Amino acid sequence: DVHDIGKNIVGVVLACNNYEVVDLGVMVSADSILETARREDVDIVGLSGLITPSLDEMVHVAGEMQRRGFELPLLIGGATTSRVHTAARIDPGYDHAVVHVPDASRAPSVVGRLLDPTARAGFTAETKQAYEVVREKREREQAARKLVPLADARAGALATDWSSYRPPRPLVPGLTLFPDLPIAKLRPFIDWSPFFITWQLRGRYPDILDHPDLGTEARRLFDDAQALLDRLEQSGEVTARGALGLFPAARRGDDVVVYTDESRDRERLVLHHLRRQRADARSGVCPSLADFLAPEDTGVPDWIGAFAVSGGFGAEELAARHERDGDDYQSILVKAVADRLAEAFAERLHWNVRHELWGYEPCDEPDNAALIREEYRGIRPAPGYPACPDHTEKPALFALLDAEANLGVGLTESCMMTPAASVCGWYFSHPESQYFGIVRIGRDQVADYAERKGWTLAEAERWLSPILAYDPDPEATT
Ligand code: SAH
Repeated sequence: DVHDIGKNIVGVVLACNNYEVVDLGVMVSADSILETARREDVDIVGLSGLITPSLDEMVHVAGEMQRRGFELPLLIGGATTSRVHTAARIDPGYDHAVVHVPDASRAPSVVGRLLDPTARAGFTAETKQAYEVVREKREREQAARKLVPLADARAGALATDWSSYRPPRPLVPGLTLFPDLPIAKLRPFIDWSPFFITWQLRGRYPDILDHPDLGTEARRLFDDAQALLDRLEQSGEVTARGALGLFPAARRGDDVVVYTDESRDRERLVLHHLRRQRADARSGVCPSLADFLAPEDTGVPDWIGAFAVSGGFGAEELAARHERDGDDYQSILVKAVADRLAEAFAERLHWNVRHELWGYEPCDEPDNAALIREEYRGIRPAPGYPACPDHTEKPALFALLDAEANLGVGLTESCMMTPAASVCGWYFSHPESQYFGIVRIGRDQVADYAERKGWTLAEAERWLSPILAYDPDPEATT
């Protein structure tokens, strides 16, 4: 901007360290800066600004460097600049090094590292990572400021008139097992768009097959996947297995009680849910999945479903074999196709539930395009996903299905499913049930949830760390 004292000092300090400085003066446009950088074949670009509008101009310059394919490091300095602003606004717009240099005396050491071919990559990565931490912290602080206290959020739960709405009773309560579903039955229900995302090809199936740039590659992948599916259909190397159960249940606060049978006299186990501490902009509701079930004190009989499916039995062995043979491509293809089979299984099973087993939707023929658009009543939220981000609810889900004995699927210590090409989740039938995100929760809910789960506060903070709206005290061990 109009002030150039800081910039001049940096220039002098760098010149004293034997660097050649091209000083463009004050009020310089992005164009002029970047054209000069190209013409002079410089090693680094530095921006300095004293007043607030310069901050936006710096964001613009970084964006222009990205757009024009620059790879040069970008230094940021000046009185109004800050580490937080650099991390939050400038760094995300440029894939290469962006470094905030808070005072001129540090310029030589930063420049030294950026020009040292052995130090440069490490220093750049470290700086990017540090800025990521700054951004994350800032996001948490902003989220914390907007949080509703847990008690108020609970008062804002979804309201259902349970005297006029009766939850449907499943036609087939209890467990239903699918020990070996033929792959041919799953193929029609594959959603192919995520398959291409796995390969970094962004586009919607089937349009992507005719995309001017991506089409050729997409077609090759698609054809290879079809050939693999043909082979798997014949050989039986890969098995798809699934289980689901529909159980009598009721809401208790933000928890869900599952009963042993329809007399509802005995509790089998309690499932725990979180509640969003921010009202939905349109409905004003602070949702929790528990809201989609009738509260126990209404006496209205309600139900919850659980499912787990895997398209991965045999797939990991097959992928490992391809890897040993040095065929990484086939190995990844097998894993990606097994993932698709698991998702297709989940989709197909959910259809069975709605139309046949729970049976609250009239029987018709499944239409895959409509299924992909989720045009149906009910949801199947998956533990670890935004509406139910606590992965440690999976052991309860597995217990309901007796999943290890019935399916042979397992859970790792961090509650990831094995084989990897597996999906599990809950079924809700409530007509207003929908997906949402818990996003961030405050200390009040963490403490409350810890008590319900029988966790220490530190355990709660560890498992819920991605959704904490505050930075936990690193010293706390209890
Ligand atoms: N057709 C896609 C479907 C998978 S993604 C595919 O083949 O990959 C959609 C699934 O993710 C949902 O069925 C649900 O299980 C889960 N999901 C999405 N958003 C969610 C949320 N907010 N909370 C919980 N689960 C969610």
